[in-house]
Amino acid sequence: MAPRFTTRFAPSPTGRLHLGHAYSAIKAHDAARAHDGVLLLRIEDIDQGRCRPEFEAGIMEDLAWLGLSWPQPVRRQSDHLPDYAAALEKLRGLGVVYRCFLTRREVMERAMSAPHGEGEGPDGVIYRGPDQRMSDDEEEARLARGDAFAWRLSIRYSQDLLGEEFARLYFFEQSDGSNAEQIVSARPESLGDVILARKDTPTSYHLSVVHDDALQGVTHVIRGEDLRTSTHIHVLMQRLLGLPHPAYIHHPLIAGPDGKRYAKRDGSVTLAALRAAGLSPADLRARIGLPA
Ligand code: GLU
Repeated sequence: MAPRFTTRFAPSPTGRLHLGHAYSAIKAHDAARAHDGVLLLRIEDIDQGRCRPEFEAGIMEDLAWLGLSWPQPVRRQSDHLPDYAAALEKLRGLGVVYRCFLTRREVMERAMSAPHGEGEGPDGVIYRGPDQRMSDDEEEARLARGDAFAWRLSIRYSQDLLGEEFARLYFFEQSDGSNAEQIVSARPESLGDVILARKDTPTSYHLSVVHDDALQGVTHVIRGEDLRTSTHIHVLMQRLLGLPHPAYIHHPLIAGPDGKRYAKRDGSVTLAALRAAGLSPADLRARIGLPA
């Protein structure tokens, strides 16, 4: 029997929800309803410097107002750091991650001096990895000095480990609003060596999202198209960690009347503000072009 259609809405509580979030959450909710499936809510609060409990409470209030419901308990990522540390250990055991001691500025400088420039990925400037692995002695010395570092996933070591299979990784993408599936070749190298954890934080978005989607039995990841490039890395990580590959639906990002995408900085368009101004959930659906 096919597993039950399971999707999730996974906001980070770094502010109140805006119309862009509402669009994503309603898309996931409507897809779950259409497939007699389930919508999970997951709180992605790894970045403890930016996340706040009152925003988490606000997210739940806003989603309930929209008419969404979700099973309990809600997974809050900050409650599960040892899980992610264990996943990182597994990747260390495979030899596909390394400690990178470069500062943000040094990464930037390297990218700028690359022959064609490296451009920006969803996590900032793309880093292609060191020319040579750092010697054990140097690594020991830097650790002894207490230097800060990030754990990066090495594209090169992953390629070495997977051999020809690396180039054959793929994922299923469903176009928004249809069940037609397309096979997309994964190109994890397009993002370079992404950060999976830091000296004092055992995880990052990429690691915890891949871990949790599998743990929670997510069959369909529905999220904005700004995260499509991350999917290419997630597919590689699923393969390395021996996890199933969900299907992906990357929906377009909606824009306001000024043509700009809704983002957290547009304080005026939070759901809380719209609700206070008298908008109903039905008005809101109409405003973002979703059927009642
Ligand atoms: N937590 C992410 C965000 O708020 C979304 C993660 C995802 O849907 O994969 O942007």
